[in-house]
Amino acid sequence: MKILVLNCGSSSIKYQLFDIASGGVLAKGIVEKIGLKGSFLKNERFDGDKVKLEGEILDHQSGIEYLLGLLISEKRGVIKSLTEIGAVGHRLVHGGETFQGSCYLDEVTIKGVEDCSDLAPLHNPANLKGIYAMKNLLPEVPQVGVFDTSFHQTMPDYSFMYALPYSLYKKYGIRRYGFHGTSHSYVSKRACEILNVPYDKMRIITCHLGNGASITAIKNGKSVDTSMGLTPVEGLIMGTRSGDVDAGALTLIMEKEEIDYSSLNTLLNKHSGMLGISGISSDMREVETAAAEGDERAILSLKMYQYRVKKYIGSYAAAMGGVDIIVFTGGIGENSPDDREKICENLEFMGIAFDKKANEGIRGKETVISTGDSKVKVMIVPTNEEWVIASETRDIVEQMNKKQ
Ligand code: ADP
Repeated sequence: MKILVLNCGSSSIKYQLFDIASGGVLAKGIVEKIGLKGSFLKNERFDGDKVKLEGEILDHQSGIEYLLGLLISEKRGVIKSLTEIGAVGHRLVHGGETFQGSCYLDEVTIKGVEDCSDLAPLHNPANLKGIYAMKNLLPEVPQVGVFDTSFHQTMPDYSFMYALPYSLYKKYGIRRYGFHGTSHSYVSKRACEILNVPYDKMRIITCHLGNGASITAIKNGKSVDTSMGLTPVEGLIMGTRSGDVDAGALTLIMEKEEIDYSSLNTLLNKHSGMLGISGISSDMREVETAAAEGDERAILSLKMYQYRVKKYIGSYAAAMGGVDIIVFTGGIGENSPDDREKICENLEFMGIAFDKKANEGIRGKETVISTGDSKVKVMIVPTNEEWVIASETRDIVEQMNKKQ
């Protein structure tokens, strides 16, 4: 079976076509600048053939039509007919409290996703555009939704509630939900497979450090706390997002700068984080280069970044009564030996014996980076969110087929 994975944003569509039997990616790419000037599609085939096609792409449906056309094209394609696509898996951002796991997308569940749009007004409507477009273009092909939030639905109430008036939770669902669930779930399970230990008996801390970043405490196979909250702004310092800030500071900024809700939102999401502190870039490589050249704000931003992750590791170890495994993943977690080392520095008191040699120079490879006798195992596990979406999609479609 071939499964198409779609990740639809407000003006872009990322896609990968998987051959489920082999686990291989037949083609992947992105449609960008949908509805804007200069829209294009970039595709990479399994054999390395790359193409960028420019054209007027007015909406998500035309973008998907365009990419489907490419997948079956004689010259650049990877399949002969669209009937080879057995299912479509969508990355969906917010499932609120409705979705505890991935689901088959039918009238009822699509309505459920629509109802969660208030919680993620920028993301869910864009995700839905992809669902509607596929319904129009390939109505016979089953669609599955895989949510960023659902893995964290196991968090206990005392961990997910904000200490705000309880009525706001009841009225609007104001609580912590968490994101990056597919990644935290995948790398934690994979770490246990590699170590050959039982997933449902471990206390694991997973650090997903990419442009967006979050950290999760997983006890006995269940997410019990995670650093992102109602929105992805909470928690760790990110490329352009602030992470934790005193809410009182925000109301003061609004007053002093005379800005409204929407400008504050932009400030917190786009102008803060590593970019905001360093003034250089949101890209960790560029900040690291500037720090190596002695730029003081770059050095400060790195120290703040690493310190925040370390603080969360300490608090999650406390939350779980200890920790057995720490996993690094995401662009930074997988590729930055220096950040991993600084984050784990001085944590010997927790039973972490970090192996500097094993960590050195390792990028994007499953590796244990603690010493053989370390009580806590520290690991790098590259994430693969698209593959998780494809395999969940396969499982749900197979279950549906059995029922019929
Ligand atoms: P996204 O959240 O958009 O999926 P990624 O997981 O790809 O992002 O992570 C992007 C981040 O990873 C960027 O800040 C980038 O600088 C960082 N990164 C990638 N390679 C390295 C590296 N070799 N050293 C340090 N940071 C890296």
